[in-house]
Amino acid sequence: MKIQEAASRLRFEEVECCPVCESSQRSPKFVSPDYLHGVPGEFQYVTCGACSTVYQNPRVVLADLGLCYPSDYFTHVAPDASTSLDPPDVNNWTYDLRRAVRHFADGTSAAGVSWVPRLFGRLLAHFPPARKWARYGVRDPLAASGEGNRCLEVGPGAGKTLRSLRWIGWQAVGLDLDPHAASTAERASGCTVKVGTLTSTDLPDESFDLIFMSHVLEHLPDLRPALQRCIRLLAPGGRLVVVYPNPESLGVQWQEKFAVNWDPPRHLVVPPLKAIVALLNATGFDRFETRTSAGSAAGYRKIARQYRAGRTGKGFENTKPSLGDRIFGVYESVLVMLGSRVGEEIRVTAWKAK
Ligand SMILES: [Zn+2]
Repeated sequence: MKIQEAASRLRFEEVECCPVCESSQRSPKFVSPDYLHGVPGEFQYVTCGACSTVYQNPRVVLADLGLCYPSDYFTHVAPDASTSLDPPDVNNWTYDLRRAVRHFADGTSAAGVSWVPRLFGRLLAHFPPARKWARYGVRDPLAASGEGNRCLEVGPGAGKTLRSLRWIGWQAVGLDLDPHAASTAERASGCTVKVGTLTSTDLPDESFDLIFMSHVLEHLPDLRPALQRCIRLLAPGGRLVVVYPNPESLGVQWQEKFAVNWDPPRHLVVPPLKAIVALLNATGFDRFETRTSAGSAAGYRKIARQYRAGRTGKGFENTKPSLGDRIFGVYESVLVMLGSRVGEEIRVTAWKAK
């Protein structure tokens, strides 16, 4: 009930310029209530006239942002916390097969792995789904290698990815603004999770080879300083991987203000792919790999349809996508495969120069 009580006294401030490119040109985008958690009120979003970033303006003040998150926000629920902190198959034949696949795909050690798993591992390493399986769900951009292996996950949620990162060889550390979420992630992952923000934490410069942020960037009230801190925290040759909702996805074009991508008032800034790459480039990153993913298209459309029909709140997660949702998902996937950047998620890897 924190939200209902607290949100009635939310304070707002005018955002002077675009949080991404600093242009003061903008036009109204939409006004929307909080469909997900029911924070009372209407929230205004604008589009930057220069870089097309969509951002909240006026924006909830920094001190009140915490009031927009319910106490059962997903970060507070640990994933299968009862299970061991070791990989689930540590005593199983699949453990060695996974190590062999990673050896051939990522260059990590396969000391002690016999020739049979090595043989299959060499073959399987060519296939992305097998590589993801071998890394306990971790995709190519987050693969560990035999070289530098210190990684920071900002906003590790319930700690599941952080745990997988540790299992595949990263010395993984988490960072979360919320002390409760941090301790949940720490217990679930077996990694240290510090409490703080990128700009406030006391981590030393050049102390990471990878920084990962999944669905965090759009919540940051201090995007530019946070990215500047990222590049300082990275060792030479290190990389930053960001994943966040695409403000120019096909779902957004069709669902408009009902799109899940906005999540008012929690999403503060949602830059298009071009704008985030320009900002990362200006921050000092010098090489990029970019893509969008249509993996969430059907699920996002399913929820947006509920919002459009006037149904709010959580609880749609377990309902099945309709035939229309599935067709939409396939259609978006085909467009993405053909090279269109309309997937629901933006995924960027940016390297710091060596
Ligand atoms: Zn802009």
